[in-house]
Amino acid sequence: MAKWGKRTAQVHGGTRRSQYGEVAEAMFLTQGFVYETAEAAEARFVELGEDEFIYARYGNPTTRMFEERIAMIEGAEDAFATASGMAAVNGALMSAVSAGDHVVAARALFGSCLYILEDILVRFGVELTLVDGLDKDAWAKAIRPDTKVVFFESVSNPTLEVIDLPYVAGLAHAVGAIVVVDNVFATPIFSNALELGADVVVYSTTKHVDGQGRCLGGVVLGTKDFIRGTLEPYLKHTGGAMSPFNAWVMLKGLETLDLRVNAQAESALKLAQALQGTKGLSRVIYPGLADHAQHDLAMQQMSGAGGTVVAFELEGGQGAAFKMLNALEIIIISNNLGDAKSIITHPATTTHQRLPQEQKDTLGITDGLVRLSIGLEDTDDLINDVKQALSAAL
Ligand SMILES: *Cc1c(COP(=O)(O)O)cnc(C)c1O
Repeated sequence: MAKWGKRTAQVHGGTRRSQYGEVAEAMFLTQGFVYETAEAAEARFVELGEDEFIYARYGNPTTRMFEERIAMIEGAEDAFATASGMAAVNGALMSAVSAGDHVVAARALFGSCLYILEDILVRFGVELTLVDGLDKDAWAKAIRPDTKVVFFESVSNPTLEVIDLPYVAGLAHAVGAIVVVDNVFATPIFSNALELGADVVVYSTTKHVDGQGRCLGGVVLGTKDFIRGTLEPYLKHTGGAMSPFNAWVMLKGLETLDLRVNAQAESALKLAQALQGTKGLSRVIYPGLADHAQHDLAMQQMSGAGGTVVAFELEGGQGAAFKMLNALEIIIISNNLGDAKSIITHPATTTHQRLPQEQKDTLGITDGLVRLSIGLEDTDDLINDVKQALSAAL
């Protein structure tokens, strides 16, 4: 059969039907599995066959449906679902390195990812080099023959810098390092990270995959060899598995993922365009805008889409930003993203509060910067809401 497109995979990928022939995926809310005989139990512990399970920390039919579905969408050989995005990042990194290994990562990272690298890995004897992800020479200098893993967010949070994946992957592969990409902002729909050179792709499915603010989840995607050989032993013994209930929610989220993120990205572009040149704004950052510093790269790496998040900077700093947030009538103040509801965040005082000022300056996280995750509301209502809140803040 021909390879399925992403929309077909979203709806049918990985489906397992029970003897009842249900239409919606069954939720197997079970920790364990019954064996007909003691011999059958023994055999299953010796070797796990296709569609055989022994314990939900190792795998579960609902979770397996989710893993196969998202692997099919991403074009990956296999996937392992995790309790959260951070369990996925931790699993991908910890399972791949040992004391004495060298890791290179882009500095502009989600705070908890930075904690895993700078605090946990370093504490266990991994050597870490952090680079400015946009600086090609810095990557070339940092990656050396003993580099084991290269890690970065394909699009950084909250300033939406786009890292040149094929370039960094080329350097990494030349020394035999594996490339792990935290791909949240690209989503499994816009992403072609594996094709562009990533070896391992990680998502927080808490974001667009759920997309309706309900469950935490994460997933690691890669070759069968990496997922089952390297990652699974680590995760199944350390307890990072996704709950079957959350896997069911994520499965249903996947069915509408393409429709949602495309609608969100379309609105995001219109909103970014409408905000350009607005009085009181010093910057509008959106990879889909032609004036974005990595616009061409973003278009190549994200199937022509700019993503679902827009950032902008108010000239009036924190005072103006807070006034604007408080004046919004539709857009809610929260720190998630990828949701059906539009969500605004002031990174300097929330998600990135703990960074030292100097680090905030390096990353461009100014007092006037806000991050807006575009939801599924009417685009014009969102534009009007931002505009009325901006005039209230001036
Ligand atoms: C949210 C997020 C994470 C962490 O995911 P959780 O599901 O909250 O654990 C990691 N990386 C990026 C880029 C994120 O946006």
